[in-house]
Amino acid sequence: MLITEATAYDKYLLLQIKGPALSKNAPDILNTFINPVIDYLISNQYTSGCEYCGTFAEPVDCYEINDRPHNLCQKCKDEVLDSLRQNQQSVIARKSNLVAGLVGAFLGSLLGCILWVLIYKLGYIAGIAGAVIGICAMKGYELLGGRLDKKGVIGSVIIMIVMIYFANNVSWSWEIYDVFKADYDITFFDAYVSMKDVLIESDLMGSYYGDLIIGYLLTAVASFRNIMNAFKVSTGSFTMKKNK
Ligand SMILES: [Zn+2]
Repeated sequence: MLITEATAYDKYLLLQIKGPALSKNAPDILNTFINPVIDYLISNQYTSGCEYCGTFAEPVDCYEINDRPHNLCQKCKDEVLDSLRQNQQSVIARKSNLVAGLVGAFLGSLLGCILWVLIYKLGYIAGIAGAVIGICAMKGYELLGGRLDKKGVIGSVIIMIVMIYFANNVSWSWEIYDVFKADYDITFFDAYVSMKDVLIESDLMGSYYGDLIIGYLLTAVASFRNIMNAFKVSTGSFTMKKNK
């Protein structure tokens, strides 16, 4: 166990502790670790109270707000809850410009596509490139659409799915172009247009769809958390629960 960071605020001390994965006796292990710190604080006239207003006349409870613990009195808890709700209202009230946003998402996703094609050229299918397509799409939506709201996240994800299909097509067309350009007078565009015919004739449709499916699966794994998080932020949702 290791205290990696200790930050002293006006009315509370925040410790970040790093240790091996803890089993169900985690509280006991943590307590043996933290109790000396608490004893030291008590011996220096510190008291336990609300971390916002500092009162120790009121009972204080521990709340988990957006997955971070906070020790608050009843009054401060209500205030925090109010401001979270107000924030949620104002987040929902602000709308984005859908058309401009989608243009931004498309332009952003092109950056990710380039990465996809280049990595494919090296012989790999990279879920990370798919995730980059998604991240750039959402960033692009936010830049041109004004705000990444719920419809922006959905639009960006749809663009990501379409653009992965496009990136896979470009990758395969490039392969075909490389093979045929020596013997035939073809352009990259010719290769792109006739790609499916060439794949069917050379019995490569299976590999083509295999690449596409692997690409989608890897992208789903690499970008799931990110997309869920964007959703959460876009709706201004929050979590608050009281710990025992
Ligand atoms: Zn308080």
